[in-house]
Amino acid sequence: MALCKISVSELKQLHFSTLCLERKIELKLLRPTPLLNLIRVTKYKTRDFKREFKPDLYEKCSWICGCDFPCLLFAKQNGVSSWVSYGVADLSHLTQKIKKHECSQSHLNSILEFNLLGKVDIRQQLDIAFRSNVKRHNEKVAKNRYVLTKIIDCILFCGAFELAFRGHDEREDSINTGVFRGLINFSAELDSSLKDHLTSAIVSKRTSKEIQNDFLDCMLTVCQNHIKMRSQKQVLFQ
Ligand SMILES: [Zn+2]
Repeated sequence: MALCKISVSELKQLHFSTLCLERKIELKLLRPTPLLNLIRVTKYKTRDFKREFKPDLYEKCSWICGCDFPCLLFAKQNGVSSWVSYGVADLSHLTQKIKKHECSQSHLNSILEFNLLGKVDIRQQLDIAFRSNVKRHNEKVAKNRYVLTKIIDCILFCGAFELAFRGHDEREDSINTGVFRGLINFSAELDSSLKDHLTSAIVSKRTSKEIQNDFLDCMLTVCQNHIKMRSQKQVLFQ
């Protein structure tokens, strides 16, 4: 489908920033190249010098559209130069005017946004990758917490019934690994997440005697704090 030409005045009325992405990309390809009837005659001594607009300027300068195409689409209201506000009709020193505008910060920003329009936005891609990493991390943490609660439940069970935790031989192939290991293995038969952890954990299965002792110390601290809080409350209400 052939794209219809659009004029500078129509572009100005469009409010480019409010348009959908598809329309913006479509407009990006529609740089107006009007044949301007600009003639300037200057007198020097006895001779007349005539300057007129030449359409080949559109090929030399990819952003000119009668005014300034990228700035017309992207420049913020306050940063808009004469190139966009009312156009540059005075052809004298045009090359210097073009060079000056090309170096301005607002023009460079507009060019950057113009060139990025319709391209894959690396910021968005990084954002998606970052969110995906956070999601994976949170899922891993939730799984680890779940496994820990199951191990803690087994320790609590042994403690509640005053059972000896350890067996004489806690190796994997032992026929009597002790109550705690036996209970963990039995729980793993009923809980696929725990079984998966015990079979796939590389660094630590969190079932060693050191971990058992750490958990017992933590439980003791929680119990002591709870007792302290309860006694402080009782003192307050006396
Ligand atoms: Zn510009």
